[in-house]
Amino acid sequence: KKVLFSGIKPSGELTLGNYLGAIKNWVKLQDEYESYFCVVDLHAITVRQEPKDLRARTLQILATYIASGIDPDKCTLFIQSHVPAHSEAQWLLNCFTYMGELSRMTQYKDKSQKLGESISAGLFNYPVLMAADILLYNTDLVPVGKDQKQHLELARDIAIRFNNLYSPTFKVPEAYIPEAGAKIMDLQNPEKKMSKSEDNPNGYILINDSPDVIRKKISRAVTDSIGVVNYSDEQPGIKNLINIIAAITGRKPEDIVKDYEGQGYAKLKQDVAEIVVEELRPIQERINQIMSDKAYLESIYRKGAEKANYVANKTLRKMQRKIGFIQL
Ligand code: ATP
Ligand code: MG
Repeated sequence: KKVLFSGIKPSGELTLGNYLGAIKNWVKLQDEYESYFCVVDLHAITVRQEPKDLRARTLQILATYIASGIDPDKCTLFIQSHVPAHSEAQWLLNCFTYMGELSRMTQYKDKSQKLGESISAGLFNYPVLMAADILLYNTDLVPVGKDQKQHLELARDIAIRFNNLYSPTFKVPEAYIPEAGAKIMDLQNPEKKMSKSEDNPNGYILINDSPDVIRKKISRAVTDSIGVVNYSDEQPGIKNLINIIAAITGRKPEDIVKDYEGQGYAKLKQDVAEIVVEELRPIQERINQIMSDKAYLESIYRKGAEKANYVANKTLRKMQRKIGFIQL
């Protein structure tokens, strides 16, 4: 079987963007691939996190994976910091990555702009950790949202560079970016992607938002004054709402548009809200169940750490050997 790796960082509560851009596709791919799904806590601390929130969210994300339909018997579910090879491999790969490459990462440019003076070296460096995450598992496929495309290309470049300098060591991974749901936009600013670390809660829908909150946020979503439902870049707010329906139902945007001929935005918003509420309802119920059983969660991440450590250490040793370190 080919190998699949992906992860989400516990830097905030999970949004509909994380669900539609990432998790929902993982569920579809898990039978076809040998899958690793990680909670990437090392990535979360590139910006300050409250320790107790970080702990709670890490488990919450693990529970959300399972509640969304990831089968822990088929897949390896683990917490990144339980596998020290990620940090070690990152150091090694750091020495094969150029400052220039990292400076060109648009996500770094965006996030650092917001932070002003307090940009950590980790934030600059994080795409290298992401490359380590992926390359350690001989990954073939990385299902991510569109925002991660550039980081994945960097991971490929690093892998190719290392392979050329020494000898074939890493599998060169491919990105898998879903057709619908690849980039869910912020409801208050549809020019910007929906993010869990965004300040204005009206911009995002959380997987755990209550039905009423979901309805309220969608009814307040920013649209335009055109007043006709079209799937067009001139109407980014409406386009985003149609994309949400498309990603959940699997229908084509053009077909969805036809449903709203001669209707205003209110009906579209109402429908989007109900579709989202119904999609998330069973997941929310299962998250609550799973979160109330900490022993079960622990058994999952312990088993996952064992498997992940085994595979990751093998790759790490291979890297060390090729570089010229004395093996112990
Ligand atoms: P942060 O703002 O802290 O970076 P995030 O919401 O961007 O949080 P990440 O942990 O960076 O979440 O990304 C996890 C996964 O979710 C990645 O595969 C990413 O591509 C995907 N993703 C994040 N936001 C969206 C979005 N708005 N639409 C589709 N996919 C998304
Ligand atoms: Mg992000």
